[in-house]
Amino acid sequence: MTTTQTLHKTLKDTFGFEKFRTNQEAIITTILEQQDALAIMPTGGGKSICFQLPALLFPGITIVISPLIALMKDQVDSLKTNGVQACYINSSQTATEQQTYIEAIQNHEIKIVYIAPESLSYLENLFHTLTLSLIAIDEAHCISSWGHDFRPAYTNLGYLKNRFPSTPILALTATADKATRQDISAQLNLKNPKIFISSFDRKNLSLEVRPALDRIKQIIDFVGQKPQESGIIYCLSRKTTEELAQKLLQQGIAAKAYHAGLDTKLRSQTQDAFINDECQVVCATIAFGMGIDKSNVRWVIHYNLPKNIEGYYQEIGRAGRDGLPSETILFASYGDVIQLQKFASQGLNADVQLAKLERMKQYADALSCRRKILLAYFGELVTENCGNCDICKNPPAFFDGTIIAQKALSAISRLKQLEPLVVVIDFLKGSKNASIYEKNYQNLKTYAVGSTISWQDWNQYLIQLMNQGFCEVAFDQKNKIKLTTLAHEVLFSGQKVQLIEPKKVVIEKTTSKEP
Ligand code: ADP
Ligand code: ZN
Repeated sequence: MTTTQTLHKTLKDTFGFEKFRTNQEAIITTILEQQDALAIMPTGGGKSICFQLPALLFPGITIVISPLIALMKDQVDSLKTNGVQACYINSSQTATEQQTYIEAIQNHEIKIVYIAPESLSYLENLFHTLTLSLIAIDEAHCISSWGHDFRPAYTNLGYLKNRFPSTPILALTATADKATRQDISAQLNLKNPKIFISSFDRKNLSLEVRPALDRIKQIIDFVGQKPQESGIIYCLSRKTTEELAQKLLQQGIAAKAYHAGLDTKLRSQTQDAFINDECQVVCATIAFGMGIDKSNVRWVIHYNLPKNIEGYYQEIGRAGRDGLPSETILFASYGDVIQLQKFASQGLNADVQLAKLERMKQYADALSCRRKILLAYFGELVTENCGNCDICKNPPAFFDGTIIAQKALSAISRLKQLEPLVVVIDFLKGSKNASIYEKNYQNLKTYAVGSTISWQDWNQYLIQLMNQGFCEVAFDQKNKIKLTTLAHEVLFSGQKVQLIEPKKVVIEKTTSKEP
């Protein structure tokens, strides 16, 4: 049998599937060739098969590192149902239980073992005496403080490559922008990893941004119109989740709060009630959702602005996993921006996190197709507008902004893509700042080519160009502005660019006293 035939047979015989989904076969083949890989695949895209199937074909054992202790049992049970010898080891077990599994591993009775990163250290010697065929690292973005869900327990995983240099590593995640992808690969010491990025487009999700005025009333109206449809409301603080759930309950809406401060039993009750359609609405912090397998979530609302686009996209992605039309609404408020700026500037990697927050704010303020912005953010450049976002449904008036775009993009190019947004604008404006004179930028061609347009307008035009995917912020390089391949078409192939007149933005100061 050829490799392809073996793979298809195993897929059918063990997992009962007829064909592979996008990238699954290519990832599996890479792993079987013992090469490292990084797979970015949306939630529900089918990441598990990518390590479970090769695990069956390899002679030795596969370890799967996952932070989601609560899900390990389900995953292992479902593998066992398919006839795969699997077990898990984490802190929820007694020492005796752990010992039983360790013995099973020593006796070569196990093909796949799920392990929480915290539990990995004392198993290390054991693995050294066995053939370790594959290391899969699920939710790999947790290793990066540039991502949106950094977990300290993940930071030590970089040693795995040094300890087991000949074992291939497969890192998997549902969200990672370019900077986070590079960081994951560096932190895990991956060797020339092949990177697989599945399409992030979720056409069935409508996208909408609303000013955050009277959010609660808007939510009650919205939910009131769809009494049969369940959804998630993401809030920034634990307190807000509880207050909001209370207000919805008062309106007769079956709502519950969920956050990491509630006790484990209550949390799993809420989760079960939601999955079994007994609770219509969960008001939650971002602690809710990772790994929740409910396909008919019909809507996701962001009560507060998320802290970056990676998190936002992952959270709205929990709606409509069954492929049916689902709605997402983001409430944008100036107060949230201020609050999030404060958090970001006090946390790890403040510069990167602030720049990511700025990109999130620009998304909320944007006046061009929102899906294009999201896809461009993850490196997928599309030229068509989506038709399923608030901007596409109610488009602002566009004008031919090709000349403006050419000026801006050639300025970025003249500055050798080495400068952040403010310097690009200073250069276009012909400013006499130190940032210009120190590097003699005033002598470059096209300096001051945009002096008749105001600084604020340039700022908005550049953001529009970024939102349309012509340029991007390199978070990992001091926020320098870089050109994308689409920019080359504008500069060299006569591609036209549509812009809109700069005008006031969505994020306004809110006055109402809401939680
Ligand atoms: P992820 O980890 O990416 O969120 P999973 O691995 O849990 O996704 O897969 C999501 C669902 O898709 C599961 O129910 C799984 O059984 C199913 N699935 C995965 N691969 C295939 C396939 N090739 N054909 C049909 N269903 C698949
Ligand atoms: Zn659109």
